[in-house]
Amino acid sequence: MAEVLADERRSKGRPAPDADAVLHGAAAERVAALDQRYTASRRALVHALLEAERPLTITEILAGAKGMPQSSAYRNLTVLCEAGVARRLPGVDDLGRFELAEDLAGHHHHLQCTSCGTLLDFDASAQLEQALMAAARRIAAETGYEITGHRLDFDGRCPRCH
Ligand SMILES: [Zn+2]
Ligand SMILES: [Zn+2]
Ligand SMILES: [Zn+2]
Repeated sequence: MAEVLADERRSKGRPAPDADAVLHGAAAERVAALDQRYTASRRALVHALLEAERPLTITEILAGAKGMPQSSAYRNLTVLCEAGVARRLPGVDDLGRFELAEDLAGHHHHLQCTSCGTLLDFDASAQLEQALMAAARRIAAETGYEITGHRLDFDGRCPRCH
């Protein structure tokens, strides 16, 4: 189901309303598995991450979630990360940036601005993904590792910083 959702998001740019419902349903299930409730605040945070086209800092998330205290946003994001709904990406600055878990949002890569720390999502070409998979198979055979994923980020300076 996650795969279907990822394809849906990719092909239309924006998720369809029922894709939104599917995502919130999956998020609610994961939170419930931790014996936690999928509260309105948690739903609002997932909504903010879903609408964003790049990983967001707490400050950026709060700009779109009026009235939510920072401490509660931070606590709720921690729960969402523990539940596997969201993940925190470390950056060049001290600010963590949050996005939806990859199996919910779809596989992608990041551009990182080494000056201001902004992260941008991008999709690698099918050709590059195939080359990476071929490399993974070869390395798995050589090392005995079971390879379950990969990360590939580009560092540089964003248009505002160069
Ligand atoms: Zn920058
Ligand atoms: Zn991302
Ligand atoms: Zn990739």
